[in-house]
Amino acid sequence: RPLVVAIDGPSGSGKSSVSKEVARRLRLAYLDTGAMYRAVTWDCLDRELGLGDSALVEASARALDLELSTSADFEYVAVRGQDVTAAIREPRISASVSAVATNLGVRDELIRRQRALIAAHGRRMVVEGRDITTVVARDAEVRLLLTASEEARMRRRGLQLGGTQTAEQLVQQVVERDARDSTVASFTQAADGVYTVDSSDLDFEETVSAVLDVVQA
Ligand code: C5P
Repeated sequence: RPLVVAIDGPSGSGKSSVSKEVARRLRLAYLDTGAMYRAVTWDCLDRELGLGDSALVEASARALDLELSTSADFEYVAVRGQDVTAAIREPRISASVSAVATNLGVRDELIRRQRALIAAHGRRMVVEGRDITTVVARDAEVRLLLTASEEARMRRRGLQLGGTQTAEQLVQQVVERDARDSTVASFTQAADGVYTVDSSDLDFEETVSAVLDVVQA
């Protein structure tokens, strides 16, 4: 029986760790669509392409030799056979990824690949990103927006980065990236038929339970 769980949310909402745990508990495949935008960005920077050349960036995305784990237990991303699992999380990628994600040709290509992956897994998958509930899997069995207050998101980001950056730097990076992202994806307000789970005052376990409650409702 098909069960696509579409989860959108801003960075620092706990989306990735929550989505992975939900996939494990429900024994579903898992797709991190943000990793795909990061991989395209890594590829462009690696080949020293100007991100402003939208035709070139689109062509790179269309031709991208990308391998991506669809298991919540195993994180793996490779571009042209090179393991970039860690590299795509570097701050230089986070700083450039929105420029790539606003390229409509790139989005068209990645959305096509995401839909193909969902189909290839028999439509049994947790899919997380920014436009999953509204575009990629509008027809998902369960659609969910995971939100958190700005304060809660900063706190989590700070923990994730291990305190190597100052609080101001963090606020600036997260707020700026979300502002850039909000021009292409609407994750600040839930679309019709999309449940909202606000994790601001929930710990990890409570958030996972809240999501599972929505799935089982
Ligand atoms: O989720 P993550 O922070 O890894 O996403 C990285 C970037 O990829 C986002 O900041 C956004 O620009 C882009 N993205 C997107 N649509 C998605 C997933 C990610 O535009 N579905």
